[in-house]
Amino acid sequence: MEKKIIIAIDGYSSCGKSTLAKDLAKELNYTYIDTGAMYRAVTLYLIQNKIDIEDVEAVEACLPKIKIEFIQNEILEKCDTYLNGQNVELLIRSPYVSSQVSEVSTIKTVRVFLVEQQKEMGKAKGVVMDGRDIGTVVFKEAEFKLFLTADVATRTQRRYDELIRKNIEVTFQEVQANLEHRDHIDTHRAESPLYKADDAVLLDNSILTREDQLRLVLNMAKKVIERINIQSEETIESTPEEKS
Ligand code: C5P
Repeated sequence: MEKKIIIAIDGYSSCGKSTLAKDLAKELNYTYIDTGAMYRAVTLYLIQNKIDIEDVEAVEACLPKIKIEFIQNEILEKCDTYLNGQNVELLIRSPYVSSQVSEVSTIKTVRVFLVEQQKEMGKAKGVVMDGRDIGTVVFKEAEFKLFLTADVATRTQRRYDELIRKNIEVTFQEVQANLEHRDHIDTHRAESPLYKADDAVLLDNSILTREDQLRLVLNMAKKVIERINIQSEETIESTPEEKS
């Protein structure tokens, strides 16, 4: 049976990590895990329950009450995020969650709570996980790491188009300000800041189409999978047979 690997994709806000991760997972028949959705779901819970995000003890106390699941949406053929049994896929993408999620993501107990679940989700391998600390914290041992980037104007346009498609009212300037704000917090926080792991492949996708990017990255991923499988066959062959 083919050995599966962990693919870790990190990078700045709105540079197409989730699009690429979903496409890759589909091609490889792997599971896609959107860790940003998990930080967004925690943020939504705090907002809905009027918990002050500055009050770290109150935040910590409510974490055991938060259950996050990814459930297949048969009509749209993708996974939706559920918070305590409610489909929150649209709500977690709203500007009011986006404007607070990076502050919530700086809280150590929130990160410990979610990282533990992410490690569990990926332990059987065969996953494509995207976020900000996947290759540096969650799966330092991931066999294939990618660090995505794109220029700010391109990223803003992509996120703006996505929000407009979802009928979310927002201006281009608001989207750009939010991206820059999140990038600043994500790269400067004390806990698991966003940076490129030494062994991650850096890819600027500003001028790549979705299809070109997928072809390029899929090729790289397949080479890594092939190498891991050859290595594992060699290990089996060189193991001396047990004497009875
Ligand atoms: O990926 P997405 O833009 O939905 O993530 C929302 C926010 O969640 C990010 O801006 C970042 O602050 C936080 N995040 C994180 N670590 C991750 C994934 C997301 O801190 N692994």
